[in-house]
Amino acid sequence: MRKNDQKQEHTNSYYAASVNEVTDYPALEGAKSADICVVGGGFTGVSTALTLAERGFSVALVEANRIGWGATGRNGGQIINGISGLSKIQKKHGDGIADMLWDLKWRGNDIIYDRVEKYAIQCDIKSGYLEVATSPKQVAWLDEYVEEREKHNFPHRYEIWDREKTRTNLGTDAYHGGFICYRDGHVHPLNLCIGEARAAHNLGVQIFEQSPVTGIEHGARPRVKTATGYVEADSVVLAGNAYSLLEPKYLSNLVFPAGSYIIGTEPLADDVVNEINPMDVAVCDLNNVVDYYRLSGDKRLLYGGACNYSGRDPSSIKSFILPRMLKIYPQLKDVRIDFEWGGKIGVVLNRIPAVGRINKNVYYCQGFSGHGVSATHVLGEVMADAVGGTMDRYDLFADMKHFRLPGSQWVGNQIIALGMLFYKLKDKL
Ligand SMILES: Cc1cc2nc3c(=O)[nH]c(=O)nc-3n(C[C@H](O)[C@H](O)[C@H](O)COP(=O)(O)OP(=O)(O)OC[C@H]3O[C@@H](n4cnc5c(N)ncnc54)[C@H](O)[C@@H]3O)c2cc1C
Repeated sequence: MRKNDQKQEHTNSYYAASVNEVTDYPALEGAKSADICVVGGGFTGVSTALTLAERGFSVALVEANRIGWGATGRNGGQIINGISGLSKIQKKHGDGIADMLWDLKWRGNDIIYDRVEKYAIQCDIKSGYLEVATSPKQVAWLDEYVEEREKHNFPHRYEIWDREKTRTNLGTDAYHGGFICYRDGHVHPLNLCIGEARAAHNLGVQIFEQSPVTGIEHGARPRVKTATGYVEADSVVLAGNAYSLLEPKYLSNLVFPAGSYIIGTEPLADDVVNEINPMDVAVCDLNNVVDYYRLSGDKRLLYGGACNYSGRDPSSIKSFILPRMLKIYPQLKDVRIDFEWGGKIGVVLNRIPAVGRINKNVYYCQGFSGHGVSATHVLGEVMADAVGGTMDRYDLFADMKHFRLPGSQWVGNQIIALGMLFYKLKDKL
């Protein structure tokens, strides 16, 4: 068990090096009480806690390391509408809920933009997310994006870019075209999460850092225990995602950790920025195993990709990712790489976030399959609804069947790795 003096700080990322606030909330000591106790201080946990605090609940949030320490503080920062697996939910419930799901798709972006404004969170938020086609076949998919927006009278700006426009705006010949939506965008995710946690704290949320939860004592008021204290609450929300080992009887082998990796260049000269991304948009390709990139607030290229489903991290992240970046941008061959880091995404076999509850009052919400900046904000609201007794949107997720692979987590990861190998080959063909 970790002792209090063994603190886990943020990984060595560009984000950790550029935080607005170095959080230093106290560790959990002794007995505490709240209406709701949230475990995990990433977007899911912080967003749930903030929504609950805004609704007048007393909340305690317990984080093993630092606020935003997990995937939240390490990700590509791409704000992408939607929640993976929604089409399966629609298939189960029929077209009658299509409009509700469309609203749910965009709710996360709305929450993020509203909070950044309401709480004046400095997080380099920018509008514009471009999906790029790496083959002519993928270009044909872009029309569907337009069709679905037209069907729903989407009020925000979006465009299809042809090959020439994509080349001019990205300074690379790698793509056959793209689709840009200006309601999506990008953000410094760690600063966003830290800002949301500060807002929650200002509304009375008790936040504890460096406090790994060791177990839950179930009962009418479950106890969330750490080595040095506990929180007793009417309800608990588990939001530890790919990093959580809690409640193995119910949750082991439900979410599989997969590594994703990012490198950050030195700040680029203005002429380079003007060549490779003058509109300062987030970019992601349409492959099954995606590459994604964007410029940071100080104009570094943050380039990520290469999900690793085997459970093993590469020995050098830079040598893993840099060739991918140089394939798109050979002109950056002499640029210095200042940062390299990785994090764990939580993959669910059917790609629908695993949402449910144990013994009526211990809720869980995890597994965004690499697509969580926006989705965690919706699900945070959905979890807050549920603990407050409003179950409609929660039930849509909780009613979906999930598979728990038999055997160890390692076996599960190898099965997922094999599946992804198939998709990688498909991308190549
Ligand atoms: C490299 C990378 C790039 C990504 N890029 C994007 C992107 O561009 N766009 C996008 O939409 N999504 C992206 N994602 C996915 C996105 O980051 C995640 O879906 C999202 O951050 C999940 O948030 P979370 O709060 O559920 O989990 P996490 O952020 O992982 O937080 C879980 C927290 O729970 C804590 N915890 C775990 N167990 C315990 C315990 N026992 N006690 C106390 N605390 C505990 C952990 O310390 C951690 O802080 C990316 C992920 C990675 C790793």
